[in-house]
Amino acid sequence: MLQLPTHEDVLAAAKRLLGQAHRTPVLRSATADRQLNAELFFKCENFQRMGAFKFRGAFNAISQFDERQRKAGVITFSSGNHAQAVALSARILGIPATILMPVDAPQAKIAATRGYGGEVILFDRYQQDREALGAQLAGERGLTLIPPYDHPHVMAGQGTAALELIQEVGPLDVLLVPCGGGGLLSGSALAVRALAPKCKLYGVEPEAGNDGQQSLRKGEIVHIATPNTIADGAQTQHLGRFTFEVIRRDVDDILTATDPQLIEAMKFFAERMKIVVEPTGCLGFAAACHAGLPLQGKRVGVILSGGNVDLARFAQLVAG
Ligand SMILES: *Cc1c(COP(=O)(O)O)cnc(C)c1O
Repeated sequence: MLQLPTHEDVLAAAKRLLGQAHRTPVLRSATADRQLNAELFFKCENFQRMGAFKFRGAFNAISQFDERQRKAGVITFSSGNHAQAVALSARILGIPATILMPVDAPQAKIAATRGYGGEVILFDRYQQDREALGAQLAGERGLTLIPPYDHPHVMAGQGTAALELIQEVGPLDVLLVPCGGGGLLSGSALAVRALAPKCKLYGVEPEAGNDGQQSLRKGEIVHIATPNTIADGAQTQHLGRFTFEVIRRDVDDILTATDPQLIEAMKFFAERMKIVVEPTGCLGFAAACHAGLPLQGKRVGVILSGGNVDLARFAQLVAG
């Protein structure tokens, strides 16, 4: 029986990931510090293997498979980064991987997933229920389903990014974390609450898809239609059962950012810090700039969750 993960599970995940995941750099920007009158610490998961933090959770989960699970293989559904994370982790561990991806996922993500050796099955995200489809294929083929966020081992793995950040820079006053299904946010909460209990922890969602914010307000998981936003990594329709339990217990609030604010942040990262951050990865910094939080004089951690964006798409977004 799967149970809610703990801080100890994040520490155990960090051990499994040693020598497998990159210990990503923490970048600073004097310009950002000056603009916000705060000390910002950017945890650059755009430099993680396969370009996003999702490698952490996928590897942590798949590396715990038993012999039977390894033989049969893993299956998942994902709009992109989790797909690549599962495909790469499975390849490293010598396990077959089947990946359900939406037909309209960014081409670079589909190609990268195939490139890592995953068998990609495309589906229509506006018509088909990916969770039902995943469960059906898992049943038929004896595969183990590793979902993108609502799994204790995935959550614990994602928490290692915040763990590394706090280990490296010390306690923070505020931590801003992009939120889709809440795997990264809940994992971060497990790390933060043990290491920096006074740190304010905020999830940030695209404004068009603020189901997490609604869920916190309502005290139950709110489902929405697939939101229309450039933040394709956070186009989730609802938080998970496990992620919501941790988020409602440990997260101070969920904020939102608009698409234009994400574009502004993407431009800032490219122009001032010379780094490519995908729209979803910009949620934390966009909220730092626009959500009206009192950050003056504070030590603020910002997780830049990924950097996977088609180059043509990137050019189009930052040119506007
Ligand atoms: C998946 C993803 C997110 C959202 O993570 P959740 O665990 O679903 O909340 C944020 N940013 C990027 C780049 C992602 O790939």
